[in-house]
Amino acid sequence: MAIRLEESLEIEENFTHLIDGKLEGSESSFPVINPSTESAFAKCPDASKEQLDKAVIAARAAFNGWANRSYNERAEMLRRFGGAIVEHTESLSELLTREQGKPLVQAKSEIQRAAAQYDRITRIEICPEVIADDDSQHIELHYRPLGVVGAITPWNVPVILASGKIAQALYTGNTMVLKPSPYTPLSTLRLGELAAKIFPAGVLNILAGGDELGIWMTEHPDIDKISFTGSVATGKKVMASAASGLKRVTLELGGNDAAIVLEDVDPKKVAPKLFAAAFVNSGQICAAIKRVYVHESLYEELADAIAEEAKKVKFGDGLDPSSDYGPVNNKMQFEKLVDLIEDIKQSGAKILTGGDVPDRAGYYINPTVVVDVDDDARIVKEEQFGPVLPILKFSDVEEGIRRANDTRFGLSGSVWTNDLAKGEEIAARLQVGTARVNQHLGMSPDIPFGGAKESGLGREYSIVGLKGYMEPEVVHINKDSIE
Ligand code: NAD
Repeated sequence: MAIRLEESLEIEENFTHLIDGKLEGSESSFPVINPSTESAFAKCPDASKEQLDKAVIAARAAFNGWANRSYNERAEMLRRFGGAIVEHTESLSELLTREQGKPLVQAKSEIQRAAAQYDRITRIEICPEVIADDDSQHIELHYRPLGVVGAITPWNVPVILASGKIAQALYTGNTMVLKPSPYTPLSTLRLGELAAKIFPAGVLNILAGGDELGIWMTEHPDIDKISFTGSVATGKKVMASAASGLKRVTLELGGNDAAIVLEDVDPKKVAPKLFAAAFVNSGQICAAIKRVYVHESLYEELADAIAEEAKKVKFGDGLDPSSDYGPVNNKMQFEKLVDLIEDIKQSGAKILTGGDVPDRAGYYINPTVVVDVDDDARIVKEEQFGPVLPILKFSDVEEGIRRANDTRFGLSGSVWTNDLAKGEEIAARLQVGTARVNQHLGMSPDIPFGGAKESGLGREYSIVGLKGYMEPEVVHINKDSIE
């Protein structure tokens, strides 16, 4: 691939892995592209298989010492780490904008939300559960750490996702080897620099590399669990590969979330909310709205109002303070979206706004709103993961629910209505991990998150997520005398 180097900037090469408490480079490296300019601005070290082995050996060696510390001790260190991230908000945000593309304010918000997770997650209490206690027996369910966790993250919100995994795995007493996406490795490697000053050697190892490194991790015989966030296709490969060693897996995968809009809402009031929840991070959020089903009585009015929202916003370089939204993150995703838009045009659906790309460098897609689209069109069936939104019409709410559920995805969904009881009843019938009424996004470390169907396996966050990083163990005491 021919890479243009950013002319006005020095190519940064000072990025390192964190392995066994030490910061080190690799013999080979790969370029990191700024999606706003399509130019490389940094070189990222590319970890070798030997470096992965070294990291896993270090994580295994550190495991007993780390697992034997109290929850409080581990929490204290994790909170200090969160504090160090806050102190570096400015530099981390700028780096995140340059490698991911999102506007600086949103990058800042990601860094702050990532840092806050270390505090929020370590406030969750994990206690043995008493199952029976009588004259003859005492039975408790304990939770103990699994060992070495391998974590693999994608490129859309890399610092939040890495931080959620680090906080959950380390708080529960595991050690970790973490691999960020090759599209956005740098801000995660900077976390490694901060971690080196806080955690004992080997507890947290961060290595950058391509997909191959992820494969080596899932195949590695001395990794006990894979915590994976990424696409459904890769999630299936991860699960198949993890099967040989019966590794535990948590899979947080793609979504094709539906929003169902009932006839009793004011289109002008809900349009900005639907737009924001669909186009957030330029549509690159797993649980963003990806299909909108609207009652026929307000279909045209609502679709036009959403299209008007799209016309108001500015997509531009994340470092330009006037940009509301950035480009999509990488060439592969950009080309996939261009192809989907071409398919929309061929299918005869109507594009209300967008449907093209601006004539400039960068992976920009003009925000696109599509109506009169068939249920079996690719834009409805597939996860677009970009700023292209199909709006579909229904005449009967039962039909709307059936069509919203007619998918292999099942991450989240929402219902929009002024009748909260009806909204709750419909939400409960959506086949998803999270169903909401009158909002779509809003994740929190206290609320379990994950997908139904092919959107995932297991949950992250809250006590439910923490237990996914632990092995349940029954401790059964017979009180009868053995004399
Ligand atoms: P991806 O599956 O292509 O890659 C994710 C990570 O897996 C990267 O680090 C990649 O290098 C690694 N990888 C690739 N092939 C691998 C293999 N065979 N074995 C092990 N690791 C491998 O996903 P992406 O394009 O980076 O991210 C976008 C996807 O992530 C979207 O589908 C989105 O919905 C999903 N996502 C889900 C959540 C969630 O919480 N459910 C959150 C964010 C993103």
